[in-house]
Amino acid sequence: MQSITSSDQMAPQFLRRVLLPILLVTTFALLLSGFALYWSVAQSNTISVERQLKSTELYIRAAVDELAQQQEMVAVWDDTVEEVRKAELDTIWLDANIGGWLHKTFGQDKVFILNSENQPIDATVDGQRVSPEAFSPFAPALHDIIMGLRGELSSRHRGHSEERASNPYLTSGKAVNDAHLLRIGDRPAAVSAMLIVPDSDRVTQQPGSESILVSIRFLDGDFLTQISNRNLIEDLRFSLYPDTKDGEVSVPFDSDEHERIGYFLWRPELPGTKILQVIGPSTALVSALLVAAMAFLVAWLWRTMKALGTAIIEIRASEAQAHHLAFHDSLTGLPNRACFEERLNKALLHNKAGEKVAVLLLDLDRFKNVNDTLGHHAGDSVVREFGSRLRAIIPSGSTLARFGGDEFALIHSGISNEQEVEALCSRIIDAVRRPFPVLGTEAFVGVSIGVALAPDASQDCHDLVRKADIALYRAKADGRDCFRLFTCLMDEAVRIRSRVEGELRAALRAGDELRVLYQPLVTAKEGRIIGLEALVRWQHPSRGLILPDQFVPIAEETGLISELGEWVLREACTVALQWPDFVVAINLSPKQFHHSGFADRILAIVQEAGADPHQIHLEVTEGILLDDNDVTQEGVRSLRSAGFKIVLDDFGTGHSGIGYLQRFDVDKIKIDRSFVQDLGQGDGAAVVRAIIDLAHAMKLTVTAEGVETAAQKDFLSSAGCNELQGFLFSQAVPREQIQDIFALTETCRGYAS
Ligand code: C2E
Ligand code: CA
Ligand code: CA
Repeated sequence: MQSITSSDQMAPQFLRRVLLPILLVTTFALLLSGFALYWSVAQSNTISVERQLKSTELYIRAAVDELAQQQEMVAVWDDTVEEVRKAELDTIWLDANIGGWLHKTFGQDKVFILNSENQPIDATVDGQRVSPEAFSPFAPALHDIIMGLRGELSSRHRGHSEERASNPYLTSGKAVNDAHLLRIGDRPAAVSAMLIVPDSDRVTQQPGSESILVSIRFLDGDFLTQISNRNLIEDLRFSLYPDTKDGEVSVPFDSDEHERIGYFLWRPELPGTKILQVIGPSTALVSALLVAAMAFLVAWLWRTMKALGTAIIEIRASEAQAHHLAFHDSLTGLPNRACFEERLNKALLHNKAGEKVAVLLLDLDRFKNVNDTLGHHAGDSVVREFGSRLRAIIPSGSTLARFGGDEFALIHSGISNEQEVEALCSRIIDAVRRPFPVLGTEAFVGVSIGVALAPDASQDCHDLVRKADIALYRAKADGRDCFRLFTCLMDEAVRIRSRVEGELRAALRAGDELRVLYQPLVTAKEGRIIGLEALVRWQHPSRGLILPDQFVPIAEETGLISELGEWVLREACTVALQWPDFVVAINLSPKQFHHSGFADRILAIVQEAGADPHQIHLEVTEGILLDDNDVTQEGVRSLRSAGFKIVLDDFGTGHSGIGYLQRFDVDKIKIDRSFVQDLGQGDGAAVVRAIIDLAHAMKLTVTAEGVETAAQKDFLSSAGCNELQGFLFSQAVPREQIQDIFALTETCRGYAS
């Protein structure tokens, strides 16, 4: 069954494997049973013929002995001796007791009585008394027998008579006779001659003077009919020659002197042939039925095999389908990750020396926006369209796969230099920049691409994908909508990141390496401390002091930011309790807002610490304004209604602009350090002034950070800025030193006046 695929292929296979063996076996069985039948018919015929031959032969031989036995009944008898001695024979007595009686009783054909001189004195032929002269024609044939009986040594029959005399079963001891099978004329005959002797002592008989009784029984004619009847042999006949007619058998018939007398011929009874005639038709019928059954079997097998073949084809088709499903993405029909890995392994294996295999990982930018604003159907259609745009521009022979979501991957082999890949990446980026038509509107997405080249980056499939992923990450970090080729430095950065992650996790758990410093926030006019900003530090046991810029982004990437932020909040709350007159500001990462229930947790922590939300300022960056996520918006709203003040940190560095502030509830903005630094240059002062005026128009408090010089302080103060923060007043200090800052307050006042 290893290769049945179609009925075209099946027919010869069926012929060879099924039809031919069945045909051979059936033919062989039929031939064998035919031969067995023929053999048993022939055998039973042969046995029957042999039996008939044997019994016929015995019967004929027995005729001679019977003849002698019959003679004895009348030849060994006192009465006969006396009767034949009479000068005048009593013919009536002789007819009644000898010739006529022997014919009537035993069917003897010719009966003669010879006197002591061997002269015939009485003759009966076919039961009729005839003249004794009738013996003459038989005299020559019987001469030797008679001579033998008389004791003539020259007679060749002498031995026979002695031999017969010694056989007690044939005749009694008193009978002296000689009997033979002879040919008389053209006829086979049993001949017996017997001395007529007395059976008692009442009559005496001189030896040598006995009369002789001669009986002849022809073995054709009547005799044959008798054998036929008794032996159930049909049409037994005698012939001088073996002139068998149709269906006859012949058996040669020799005299006692081994002279061929002639042949017995008959149509033998053939039981085998009869049986064949009887069972022949039924056997033929059974054979025909057998052939029909075999034909039916063959037809059934053919149908079954065909059905089986179809079933196998169907199974193969569904296997192929299952295989396709297992290796392809259902949305785009593109190969999936499993298929991609298989092909990448092949491409790496067959990569020629001097050529490179590029693995590109592609990730749509702002795809989440499409999903969130237009729904998942729109997202799906963007993904499909993205797939077909890519297919249209990628080189033939390369493999494009979808890993899921908006993640795609490409294998491009046979590359001779990096420029080829860079050109391909640029083409892809351009193709994706065109708007995607969805649901009657247009969606704008971009694509970030990470590339890793084999064998440069790695020769291993998984390692190559991992490195392309690092490059992709870098492309996203570098502002998205661009591509990056993997370099060893990126790998190093990743390694550092993962090490930092582990250490930061441990530090958070232990809680003794992290600490919070506080930087005062002063009023612009009076220089009075009104608050403190909590800024986290990591006192690493071996690497020393690590600033937040170096580990906060890692905490954001790895999800540790929530834990870190909450830890800082708890610390800040204790400070808030200690300095109830001061506002305490903490920094929140936009990532923290993505977790549902975030706002509730913030509130819970503050309440647990016993602090007042009105005393806590939450500093968020502009990114949060762009975040359309409902969870984020809802979180900000509920925090605000709980009494927290929302401060927009690093104002001016993002893309939000003043317009965004209108639809987003904040209480205060913090002008970014860079604007303060630029005050002395160009129209820096005009920009800051405009920001302050606009914020005031929107009833927002304005803080300026990074104030390092008195000139900056003076300008900001005169421009209407409400609060100031910077090294001019104080660096961030440990909580134990907050007390000392009061001492500085006077100084601050000095600056303010
Ligand atoms: P930021 O919120 O803008 O914090 C002010 C940063 O400016 C602080 O840096 C502070 O030390 C520095 N600074 C203050 N005055 C001056 C000045 O006059 N000149 C100059 N050159 N710098 C000044 P720091 O502490 O290194 O913090 C860097 C940033 O890390 C913060 O910027 C904030 O975004 C983030 N950060 C700090 N602590 C946390 C935290 O607990 N959670 C989160 N999410 N972010 C934090
Ligand atoms: Ca801040
Ligand atoms: Ca800031």
